[in-house]
Amino acid sequence: MEIELQLDDGRVRGVVAGLRPYRAGGPRLAVEHLGQKIVAHNYGHGGSGITLCWGSCLEVLNLLGNHLSPGLPVGVLGSGVMGLCSAHLLSQRGHPVTVYSKEFPPNTTSNVAGGLWAPTHLGLEDDELRDRMLRETWNTYLSLDSKRYGISKVPLYETPDRSHPLDPFPDGITPEPSTMARLPISGYVGECLYSETLLIQTPRFLHQLASDIEERGGAFREYEFHHLNQILELPETLFINCLGLGAGRVVEDHAVRPIRGQLVLLEPASESFIIDHSAGYVISRPDMLVLGGTFEEGVEDSEPDPEMCRTILSENRRVLLGKN
Ligand SMILES: Cc1cc2nc3c(=O)[nH]c(=O)nc-3n(C[C@H](O)[C@H](O)[C@H](O)COP(=O)(O)OP(=O)(O)OC[C@H]3O[C@@H](n4cnc5c(N)ncnc54)[C@H](O)[C@@H]3O)c2cc1C
Repeated sequence: MEIELQLDDGRVRGVVAGLRPYRAGGPRLAVEHLGQKIVAHNYGHGGSGITLCWGSCLEVLNLLGNHLSPGLPVGVLGSGVMGLCSAHLLSQRGHPVTVYSKEFPPNTTSNVAGGLWAPTHLGLEDDELRDRMLRETWNTYLSLDSKRYGISKVPLYETPDRSHPLDPFPDGITPEPSTMARLPISGYVGECLYSETLLIQTPRFLHQLASDIEERGGAFREYEFHHLNQILELPETLFINCLGLGAGRVVEDHAVRPIRGQLVLLEPASESFIIDHSAGYVISRPDMLVLGGTFEEGVEDSEPDPEMCRTILSENRRVLLGKN
């Protein structure tokens, strides 16, 4: 397949930025008792929340064990990918769920995510846990109706000089990457690695999760947390904390810090694929073509910087099309 990549100014639809909820040491998956209430923490997934969501939520439900007695109402804090996957799994098991959050899709960091299935900026040193969550998430995505949830298997092209090499996938998930004599883009000279991964159309996926939860009787309630003690006022006895970056402040976890990412969004191309190269990446989804991107550690401002976005566009053009 020869890719016709069009990155003209006229195809730009917008720019977007988001703050990855990075946590030094990896996500916090742990159960805590607060008076009569129980909270399971599920936050701090950095640049890998879409890649780990199902696996991470299942780990947390397993940690809760017998506390999750049949039919027990559960409160879920946060409505990003972690909150929605948790509420989805709980409602599937027959638990009445209420999602408490200050923002809902489309206004979450999870909606900003490009949707590449690949672990990156995760910070987790427990390889066994990491691989288990990755496998669980991969298999769950594949079990879903791909059209309804916006999931597809796509070619992944990586140039040897890519700026942020992806962390390795667990053995046996995808075929071993093979070397191609050239990246299949008109005008590009140079070899690349070819393999496959999943592409998740994040807005569609999150929307579908929310409507499944609603269909099963789940409720969504606007609520802002300033401190975890606020759960003492809520009617449920068991909670899952999926506040992402917000968890850092709410539970005073100083290991949580933002890594800002900026993206340029363009008119969609006719094929779906992913290219990871020396000056950024291209995620070609059916709903839009996403150009990345930045990894700005400690930046707390979630507004896109127009100058940086112009650079993302011109760097992608320079490397892939040989022009500015
Ligand atoms: C530019 C960019 C590209 C990315 N690309 C990818 C990718 O391709 N693949 C991938 O796997 N990951 C990617 N990520 C990372 C991914 O987006 C995150 O890991 C993921 O969104 C984290 O999900 P979450 O549910 O924990 O957090 P969020 O989506 O941030 O959800 C947190 C929820 O908690 C709520 N909340 C927060 N604080 C409070 C409070 N005080 N009171 C009440 N509610 C609160 C929020 O409103 C929100 O509903 C990307 C991130 C960025 C920024």
